[in-house]
Amino acid sequence: MTPTVREVQAKSVLSISKIYPWVVNPYTGCEHACSYCYARFMKRFTRHPEPWGEFVDVKVNAPSLLRAELRRKKRGKVWVSGVCDPYQPLEEHYRLTRQCLAVLAENGWPVVIQTRSPLVLRDLEIIRHAMDFEVGLSIPTADDGIRQLFEPRAPPVADRIAALDTLHRAGVRTYAMVAPALPGVERLAPLLEGKVDDVIVDRMNYHHADWVYRQHGLEYVRTHRRVLPPGDAKPEALLRGWTPAAAPGRDECRLHPGGDRRREAARERKGGRRRRR
Ligand code: SF4
Repeated sequence: MTPTVREVQAKSVLSISKIYPWVVNPYTGCEHACSYCYARFMKRFTRHPEPWGEFVDVKVNAPSLLRAELRRKKRGKVWVSGVCDPYQPLEEHYRLTRQCLAVLAENGWPVVIQTRSPLVLRDLEIIRHAMDFEVGLSIPTADDGIRQLFEPRAPPVADRIAALDTLHRAGVRTYAMVAPALPGVERLAPLLEGKVDDVIVDRMNYHHADWVYRQHGLEYVRTHRRVLPPGDAKPEALLRGWTPAAAPGRDECRLHPGGDRRREAARERKGGRRRRR
């Protein structure tokens, strides 16, 4: 499906966020079109008649705008991105996320990148040399068949895990975002071992995907909580051996593997940089 693409001149690109102090969305709309996507509310702010996932507004002036806004605004952690995937396929051509990251790195602003795409590896050199950049790959299940039902236009699970591995080996701080927790998520822990510093489980309500559960006969799995082991209701039960740390947001639970958590504590005591080397 080719989306309707519109090049636009944005008025602002560094926006206040409820999750991190700031958020940058170089695009409005997202080609990945995940069935459960909460960001579809952004359709209200556009004049697009197309369904979510079938239009993208490209903020072609995002990098220059960002450079100007950094001069006026107070330094704080920047989320890239909140309501679009910054590495959706169009980014390969437009390179807006890449240019925005370069501007943020140049000015020493801390950044949390969140994506479903291994295209992030294209910008590894910018990321690894930045002072305080962290990269998260969203992975809601270990089962690629389930992934295809809920997010057929996003990259395969194996490619996302491989991207985390490459980033982690390059010394970049990494996390996996489990949002939402789909059937098959319980097999994710061993696949992530040694590739991430932590895992975030999001407890948000993803009711947009209710029809996918119904269509594929997965309602039993969800209503009987087969996503979690019997008797367990807490997100940390999804990842045995991982322990919860302070939740960064009210809907999230951040889990650390034992070893990395000790390393994190030592790093915080030293007050040092968050990058691992
Ligand atoms: S990648 Fe993120 S922003 Fe894009 S459709 Fe999926 S959930 Fe929504």
